[in-house]
Amino acid sequence: MLEKVLIANRGEIALRILRACKEMGIKTVAVHSKADENLMHVRLADETVCIGPNNATDSYLNIPAIISAAEVTDSVAIHPGYGFLAENADFAEQVERSGFTFIGPSPEVIRLMGDKVSAIKAMKKSGVPTVPGSDGPLTDDHERTLKIARNIGYPVIIKASGGGGGRGMRAVHREQGLLNAISVTRTEAGAAFNNDVVYLEKFLETPRHVEVQVLSDGQGNAIHLGDRDCSLQRRHQKVIEEAPAPGIPEEARQRIYKACTDACIEIGYRGAGTFEFLYQEGEFYFIEMNTRVQVEHPVSEEISGFDIIKEQLRIANGETLSVTQDDIKFNGHAIECRINAEDPKTFMPSPGKLTQLHMPGGNGVRVDSHLYQGYSVPPFYDSMIAKLITWGPDRETALTRMRNALDELVIEGIRTNTPLHQELVRDTGFIEGGVNIHYLTKKLEG
Ligand code: ADP
Repeated sequence: MLEKVLIANRGEIALRILRACKEMGIKTVAVHSKADENLMHVRLADETVCIGPNNATDSYLNIPAIISAAEVTDSVAIHPGYGFLAENADFAEQVERSGFTFIGPSPEVIRLMGDKVSAIKAMKKSGVPTVPGSDGPLTDDHERTLKIARNIGYPVIIKASGGGGGRGMRAVHREQGLLNAISVTRTEAGAAFNNDVVYLEKFLETPRHVEVQVLSDGQGNAIHLGDRDCSLQRRHQKVIEEAPAPGIPEEARQRIYKACTDACIEIGYRGAGTFEFLYQEGEFYFIEMNTRVQVEHPVSEEISGFDIIKEQLRIANGETLSVTQDDIKFNGHAIECRINAEDPKTFMPSPGKLTQLHMPGGNGVRVDSHLYQGYSVPPFYDSMIAKLITWGPDRETALTRMRNALDELVIEGIRTNTPLHQELVRDTGFIEGGVNIHYLTKKLEG
């Protein structure tokens, strides 16, 4: 097994990775910024290295500092977690060139899936359903562009091939606005992503966000761990996720799982990954693949009883998948609430010292969090401080357990979005299940 793993991340996911390593007898190296020397996983790791000052650019995004830390500690592999450098193909490449194992797919596959035009092309080739669109970059030929849009039918959406994080896209509702929207998106994309390739696809008006978790060993085997619904979003940030997605016909579900695992084999995918889809009127439309572990991975673990991070470590060690699809038995329903250090009404970040902390517990309750009493949430990073996950034999039980768990949770000294979650888990639309991606924004506006 991998002897020593460097965890190139912070917060709850760094702790999650550390726990998996400990379970497997793997030594751990925690790298951290100056502000993060008191992080829970830094205290628990076998070795620690300070890789730079508070701002992420000089620490968690500092590739030379991370690789040097791996060198001085004799680490053999680097786990990037999510965010930061997790989907940076150049990082993966430099890690491998320096003689370490990157815990994730090959740099080529990260690059392929990181560019939306090439990702969509690869997906179409593997039989994954995509959004009807231009099938490639838009050119200077305006007549051609107008024709493509007319054939697809308005509204359409212009998207930057290099875009990410919900940036670099623009919906167009009438032909008069099309060419101008393309030119504006192209200019923005060139400035923001250093890549001015844009393409066009049908704008879906009331989709849900449904995604499929996969694991593949890069040696011809792939499995899925079912799907997740992450439609409750605010500004493209997921707020609550659940598995499985409510109300999807079994036949559609099985069809999409097969397309995803086939695609993994086709592109030589290695590691954990997620195929993200928009789902509308019974149809799935691929939007992107995340080539890393995701924040919401615990809900899939809860319904499958399978540890995604441990399998990532095994795959990185060169092993074939430890299970087949038939070994995975789905059971019950799981929900995750992302607890953020922010004002529940204004969403302004609320860093600071925790004066009181009480985490919920009991049957079917899981808390993935690096918090402890007296810890100070620094102002420099993402505001997510805990993931509250509940499982139940059915959705209703998982929801009831979530209501109770949220009511038990005590975090004092800072503001959190717990009151928003308490409201959402009592919301009739959410309780019914299957709301679309605009539901939360509309509710907050209303
Ligand atoms: P990013 O990489 O920036 O996250 P995605 O392609 O994943 O971009 O899209 C982000 C979000 O933009 C989606 O979750 C959805 O809300 C919206 N979106 C993207 N494509 C479409 C589309 N064709 N129709 C409607 N909404 C879309």
